[in-house]
Amino acid sequence: MAREHGPVCRICRREGQKLFLKGTRCDTPKCAFERRDSQPGMNARRGKLTDYGQHLREKQKLKKHYGLLERQFRKLFAMAARGKGNTGEALLGLLERRLDNIVYRLGFGKSRSQARLLITHGHITVNGRRTSIPSVLTRPGDIIRVKARKKSSELVQANLAELSREIPDFLHRVDGPEPEGHILRAPEAGDVTLPVQTQLIVEFCSK
Ligand code: SF4
Repeated sequence: MAREHGPVCRICRREGQKLFLKGTRCDTPKCAFERRDSQPGMNARRGKLTDYGQHLREKQKLKKHYGLLERQFRKLFAMAARGKGNTGEALLGLLERRLDNIVYRLGFGKSRSQARLLITHGHITVNGRRTSIPSVLTRPGDIIRVKARKKSSELVQANLAELSREIPDFLHRVDGPEPEGHILRAPEAGDVTLPVQTQLIVEFCSK
């Protein structure tokens, strides 16, 4: 699975916004962005961004928040653009429907990257079937369950005990020895926690 490597806190500093890439650390004073919100690197950008730069940074911000590579992001954008409604809102809905995001938002994983690992290592089932693909798009009615296995349960229980994350209202979590999450409705743009200007992203990706 192709992933971006390197210090993730630099990504937040580069985008000028907290992107919540590191789990519990992001909500503590240890957050690197809270301590130093300047641009990283010797060649840090100074002054005002160009119009192109503003569009690019907005797209990068959303892509990095969900931990996607460019190809994966463009694929979802193409799906959103094929629909009849507002492309920006449809894109946000698709991003929220990804299985790795759902596992994260249910609190099973500390971060989206850890949620991806839980899925690829076989700790999660969807409607009773094991899946190892984090990009699967979930649907209303789907049941996301932690596998009935000691190791899976221990991993997720430890995260649930540590996190006090608010569950969005399109999801319902049932706690217990094998925690599970129910998808109550399709997520909408309003369910996205990151402030983002979708119009800039649509303009950038449509060129
Ligand atoms: Fe970003 Fe989290 Fe690092 Fe803070 S701790 S800079 S929010 S990844």
